[in-house]
Amino acid sequence: QTRGLYRKTWAEIDLGAIAHNVSFYREHISQDKELMAVVKANGYGHGAVPVAKEALAAGATWLGVALLEEALEIREAGIDAPILQFGYCAEEGVPIAQKYRITISFNDVEALQRALPYIDQDAPELLFHLKLDTGMGRMGLSGEGELNRFISDYQQAKNKKVNVKWQGVYTHFATADEHDLSYTNNQQKIFQDYLALVKKANILVPYIHDANSAATAIFPEIVTTNLVRVGISMYGLHPSMGMKESFPFPLKPALSLHTRLSHVKQAKEGAGISYGVTYKTEQESWIGTLPIGYADGWSRGLSNQSYALIQGRRVKQVGRICMDQCMLLLDQYYPRDEKVTLIGRQGDQEISIDEVAQLLGTINYEISCRLHPRVPRIYY
Ligand code: PLP
Repeated sequence: QTRGLYRKTWAEIDLGAIAHNVSFYREHISQDKELMAVVKANGYGHGAVPVAKEALAAGATWLGVALLEEALEIREAGIDAPILQFGYCAEEGVPIAQKYRITISFNDVEALQRALPYIDQDAPELLFHLKLDTGMGRMGLSGEGELNRFISDYQQAKNKKVNVKWQGVYTHFATADEHDLSYTNNQQKIFQDYLALVKKANILVPYIHDANSAATAIFPEIVTTNLVRVGISMYGLHPSMGMKESFPFPLKPALSLHTRLSHVKQAKEGAGISYGVTYKTEQESWIGTLPIGYADGWSRGLSNQSYALIQGRRVKQVGRICMDQCMLLLDQYYPRDEKVTLIGRQGDQEISIDEVAQLLGTINYEISCRLHPRVPRIYY
């Protein structure tokens, strides 16, 4: 394992923080609810397998992923907890899902019909959760007509002894992280109406779920659901800036990002820095180079905008961020190899993922997800 040995840039993942955040959620929700740790997109950039193991040890019982490939990575790591794959899955994946006992989502009224020719009658049964669109407008059945048709197709399939099991029903909220909850309340109401139809058909579906991190924080006691899907806040990040103050328990961010000065020089007044010379020194200055750039996920959009921490002090990044490198305007001389923190804490100074997201006009989710695999993750 030579990854990261020769270029001193790395992300640290505090697995204790993952455990802390899962435990707080576990205590926040009622005993009868299960917790799904959402580890899609390589665990929001934190590393799916180590996060999954930690979350399961801390009380999660399910894992959530976006792709069948992501679920297979988890199975290959020897984790046998239930996994739900959200979103699109090609029908060719059906026998693979059966073989590895991965639950897939059926997202439209034809999904069961399309899957039928692929179902292996001799493998473990195909497990699925039905996704209902109650206002997200992305995936899912919508309207009572579609749901009734799906119910009838499922009943027919069961009468024909097709090797399939309806294991869950769910929906996804579009605005649960916003102050005004009227849209979410309406989604919940539509969901309840749909659930009543499933119940009326006498189909016993073991798992009912709707809540993401935000909704779980706000509505921990909703009685009709028995599973919550927690993503962003398991990683110690708030679902929105607006929820920061009102969050019901303290979150611990798990990810920090570090590098070391790879080059230090004294630049004369008026010296140009990086492509396009978008920055020129205003006086004789110490300029430090960092071995990290936009290919690592440190966006070029941060050029001349972001900060870094060095010996507990905040210094400015100057000039355009290059593919593999970027420059700092140092406040004094520091030796080559001095540690620099781009996300995280040094002394009483902190650069949060939220701060970086705000500079880029995006959300914290995107900052951790975009950290490239060539940045080694160090776990502790
Ligand atoms: N459930 C589904 C279907 C999702 O797509 C996601 C993430 O986008 C989540 C749950 C987790 O959401 P959050 O990260 O806001 O907790």
